Amino acid sequence: MEKKDEKKENREIRYKNRMRIARTIAEAGAISKNEIGVRLGLSMPTVLQCVKELKEDGIVMESGEYGSTGGRKAKVLSIAGDAGFAAGMDITKSHIAFVLVNLNKELVKKARIRLPFSKEYSYYEGMGDWLRVFLEQSGEGKEKILGVGISLPGIVDQGEKLLVSSQALGVENMSFKQFERIAGYPCQVESDVNGAAYAEFYGEGRDGVYLALDDTVEGAVFMDGALYGGDSRKGARFGHMKLERDGRRCRCGGRGCVDAYCSSQALLGEDPGLEVFFKKAEAGEQGYKARLDEYLEYVAAASVNLRMAFGCDVVLGGKAGKYLKGFRRELDRKVEKYDQLDLDLSFLRIGKCQPEMSAYGAALKLVDGFFGEGL
Ligand SMILES: [Zn+2]
Repeated sequence: MEKKDEKKENREIRYKNRMRIARTIAEAGAISKNEIGVRLGLSMPTVLQCVKELKEDGIVMESGEYGSTGGRKAKVLSIAGDAGFAAGMDITKSHIAFVLVNLNKELVKKARIRLPFSKEYSYYEGMGDWLRVFLEQSGEGKEKILGVGISLPGIVDQGEKLLVSSQALGVENMSFKQFERIAGYPCQVESDVNGAAYAEFYGEGRDGVYLALDDTVEGAVFMDGALYGGDSRKGARFGHMKLERDGRRCRCGGRGCVDAYCSSQALLGEDPGLEVFFKKAEAGEQGYKARLDEYLEYVAAASVNLRMAFGCDVVLGGKAGKYLKGFRRELDRKVEKYDQLDLDLSFLRIGKCQPEMSAYGAALKLVDGFFGEGL
């Protein structure tokens, strides 16, 4: 009996070491066996054995040699990107975006299809069909697909694979377990703002908060390499921090919230689209410049509040965030006015704001999970 336990224990240790080594290679991008041993405090025979197994499984490969310092040249180890893939899907009212991400976290394929959202079973089937087409076109075998990360516009319950509520889709308690059965792949759900934040901060090795300036203002907190949800996923609701006492009426029923001043809807009012709005503002057209100026004032105040609360990088994203790149100087001037404590404003960044960011982040979580516990 004792012997059996010992065997089991050894197997678990070996498994853990393999996992730690694969993760170290994934994080480093390229690394030598020696360096792995130093970083993880493992003996050379252990490193050699684990690397051998990882190579046999096709997860790790040799991608060259380091320059010689005398003696044998050290081999460069890296992750074999095409050993596995994660799919990501971002669901919106009228479209679905698909992405495919390899084990090196590279986005290798993307597509966007029009599929109006509905609560009917046929919608799950439609999603499943498109997912199959997308994956088939990638040419990768089913056994290489780790799973599907689904980004949803609302509050999600990851354990139950449930979209708890979504204002954007007008739906409550929509389960994705049924979709998982139809799709035939393990699925994970994530809120779109968390997906985008994950894509923004993952692998940077630093904390950050994300302020999504979309039709509504949403937020996310990335801390110690993971997303922070708060009690019952109630954290990071930056859209309802107060900017003005007795200010504008907010959709939450309160007054003076960030959402009432910084959402793309608050900026646009009756105007039809952001692109036209920002062009007119850039051209200095009467009224538009003043509205943008006021908008930037509130975005600056909200950003500085977040900086004071968290003390880390603040990234602006979302539909409206994308356009702020062209108005960085104006924004900085306002941030400077509100922030008396920072010597430079490099903490504030405009995000990548790519349309497929949320789907990419949802897929990235699966890749990260693979190196965490999937091996
Ligand atoms: Zn509110």
